[in-house]
Amino acid sequence: MDFMLSDEQRQIRESIARICAEFGDDYWYRKDLNHEFPHEFAGAFAAAGWFGAIFPEEIGGAGLGMTEAAIIMQEVGRNGFNACSTLHMNMFGCQPIVKFGTRQQQHRFLPPIIAGTDRACFGVTEPDAGIDTTHIRTFAERKGDRYVVHGRKVWTSTAQVANKILLLTRTQRFEDSPKRSAGMTLFYADLDRSKVEVRQIEKCGRNAVDSNALFIDGLEIPVDDRIGEEGRGFQYLLHGLNSERIIVAAGILGASRYVLNKAVQYAKDRVVFGRPIGQNQSIQHPLAECWIEQQAAELMLYKGAALYDGGAECGPEVNAAKYLCAEAYFKAASRAVRTHGGMGYAKEFHVERYFRESILPLIAPVSQELVLCYVAERALGLPKSY
Ligand SMILES: Cc1cc2nc3c(=O)[nH]c(=O)nc-3n(C[C@H](O)[C@H](O)[C@H](O)COP(=O)(O)OP(=O)(O)OC[C@H]3O[C@@H](n4cnc5c(N)ncnc54)[C@H](O)[C@@H]3O)c2cc1C
Repeated sequence: MDFMLSDEQRQIRESIARICAEFGDDYWYRKDLNHEFPHEFAGAFAAAGWFGAIFPEEIGGAGLGMTEAAIIMQEVGRNGFNACSTLHMNMFGCQPIVKFGTRQQQHRFLPPIIAGTDRACFGVTEPDAGIDTTHIRTFAERKGDRYVVHGRKVWTSTAQVANKILLLTRTQRFEDSPKRSAGMTLFYADLDRSKVEVRQIEKCGRNAVDSNALFIDGLEIPVDDRIGEEGRGFQYLLHGLNSERIIVAAGILGASRYVLNKAVQYAKDRVVFGRPIGQNQSIQHPLAECWIEQQAAELMLYKGAALYDGGAECGPEVNAAKYLCAEAYFKAASRAVRTHGGMGYAKEFHVERYFRESILPLIAPVSQELVLCYVAERALGLPKSY
């Protein structure tokens, strides 16, 4: 087992840290407060070529592995979940096109994603299906050389600024499908706003990155924009879940580290009763617990990434990593607020922003409950419960 970063990995981490350092707390404070998409931050990553990090070299990417992706996102996470979500779709979300798209589609769709001139969003969740994706109802009906789509999506992030959508639909109704996971089809389509109404959802945190309800009424998608075979879209998405878990876990681990550091610094600086508050065990012990839990989460994260890069089965490990990193973030962020006392509640100290964000990875992209269901089934052999 090797816990050391290679020279290349260290250089990657330093390059990402340099970009992130240009976008400090005040930048994210303003973007979150004003609900403004961080175009400058996204632009800096695109300009430095990082959107291509894990794409194959033959289409202009760098061909890096999941361990390197985790190193990148852990560093990005210091700027918070706002920062991670800004980059997520362009850097990682289009992997189904890499895995299942035709060569022609890869060359047509991916260079503008890597350059950052196209921006994609991800339309899977629906109001009446929830986390049970098999019950989506958005339907794509084939009419000659195109499909016509009607339906609703909810929570679609970045749809205010995206011009493309990776869209999961049914092409066979649930009731008619041979298996619940069959009959769904994936498209990479133009987000044609004359046929899709995009309505922003007011939400608790991560407010620099929008999330939306989509009302799709007659969206036309050429057959050429279908990814893979008709009816196999759900399988294509499942294929990308392990990498998604790693990327999400890494980002929130970085965020949890950053917010813990803020708490520690405040505990050193703030003097009450004539001594730094960090001298009190009721302040320092919870912070020490956060550090220990972050270390454990990090080990699980890089174990999962190493298994993934080695081509081994890694579902339970990467799900466990997402679970541990999400708990570590929530705990560190809430502890940071409490360590700051009243000032933890003031926006100018930034920790309340991290706290609001830290609730999100407990719920999305997969809830902690569903992670436990998965681990119970796959790691412990208990009956499937979902
Ligand atoms: C800010 C934000 C951004 C998002 N961005 C996107 C996006 O870009 N694209 C997209 O497609 N989706 C997105 N989502 C949706 C997200 O993936 C879902 O919210 C998440 O998967 C949970 O689904 P749900 O909200 O419908 O919860 P529900 O399915 O309604 O579940 C509610 C609760 O019940 C629990 N539960 C349900 N069934 C079981 C069971 N069998 N066992 C145990 N517990 C269960 C769940 O874990 C959850 O805690 C986003 C969500 C948020 C909040």
